[in-house]
Amino acid sequence: MNRLISYGHQYIDEDDIEAVVEVLRSDFLTQGPKVREFEEVLAKYCGAKYVVVFSSGTAALHGAYFAAGIGDGDEVITSPITFLATANAALFLGARPVFVDIEGDSGNIDAELVEPAITSKTKAIVPVHFAGHPANLKKIAGIARKYNLILIEDACHALGARYLDTTIGDCRYSDMAAFSFHPVKSITTGEGGAVLTNDKEYHERLVMFRHHGITKDKSAFVNKDEGVGQWYYEMQHLGYNYRLTDIQCALGISQLKKLDRFIQKRRHIVNAYNRAFKGNPFFDLPVEKSGVESAWHLYAIRLKDAYKRVKSKIFKELHLRQLGVQVHYIPVHLQPYYQQLGYSRDLCPKAKDFYERQISIPIHQAMSDEDVECVISSLMDVLKHS
Ligand SMILES: *Cc1c(COP(=O)(O)O)cnc(C)c1O
Repeated sequence: MNRLISYGHQYIDEDDIEAVVEVLRSDFLTQGPKVREFEEVLAKYCGAKYVVVFSSGTAALHGAYFAAGIGDGDEVITSPITFLATANAALFLGARPVFVDIEGDSGNIDAELVEPAITSKTKAIVPVHFAGHPANLKKIAGIARKYNLILIEDACHALGARYLDTTIGDCRYSDMAAFSFHPVKSITTGEGGAVLTNDKEYHERLVMFRHHGITKDKSAFVNKDEGVGQWYYEMQHLGYNYRLTDIQCALGISQLKKLDRFIQKRRHIVNAYNRAFKGNPFFDLPVEKSGVESAWHLYAIRLKDAYKRVKSKIFKELHLRQLGVQVHYIPVHLQPYYQQLGYSRDLCPKAKDFYERQISIPIHQAMSDEDVECVISSLMDVLKHS
């Protein structure tokens, strides 16, 4: 009964375990048929033409930025309310993240503030679908078109989300979308990620980047005369080993079959929370804007003023009650590494305020109805006494 209920957790069943064991008994542990198969089912689910799976969401973002041609001196516009990797991947390539403030309710990048942040060095815009709630893609896509910028979705929270008439990952509004399959995300492969795109050239660059910048495609060779030997391959870029194994892809294929059920489960929990918390004096509830179906990666509450001041006490008390709450996120530019790069602490005041109020309470596919009731009563009790 006193088991920790974490803010996020994987759900693994016997089918998942069998799928993995089957690969362990087969010839290919990596670079085998399961990689292609996972990419195909993911492409089909999302409705994108091409999928390249990566060893993590971070590697996927790095790959997408590389494919986009982001490099030395370029600027990449993104939100500070994200996991560090969104911004770090720009630094990997010598580019500079430019942080734009957020909407106070959704936690997503404020589309109105994107255009004023554009300079002659801007190369790409990377909205993060915070908590699984798609950002204002339509508006941001309009800005990207106007300034000829590349639009990359950090969709790590949002596999299974829908936006207007699209599924996140179909890249209807963007050039590429990156997912993560870390255990707390919509589905898991242990570690893992993917980039989705409808563009053939991005796809080719992503495939090369994942495998040391190597191509074995004769028609793409620089040295045409060398192409005669069957052993021949060319390294054309500085790539990495960012491959996902067949073991992991088998898990991904099995998990993807359950994705719709996982999202339904999350929505069921959201409905229970929304009913229980409606009109409460302690915090504001997460929003779901019209035209959006969130993947509900997080259930992010925002403490009202009186409780914001005692957040660390509330947080500690919730952990004592075995609620594995978390805060998403410390604004990236406030991290010591970014401070040392010269980012002002005064950037993005709404992001700072959001951070000071925000707590992610448990929501995931492995929670029982009793878990949900336990979260509701413990949270309310702690807040009443704060
Ligand atoms: C999880 C996450 C990442 C990084 O994914 P990993 O698979 O952990 O490398 C990047 N961006 C966001 C918004 C994430 O939530």
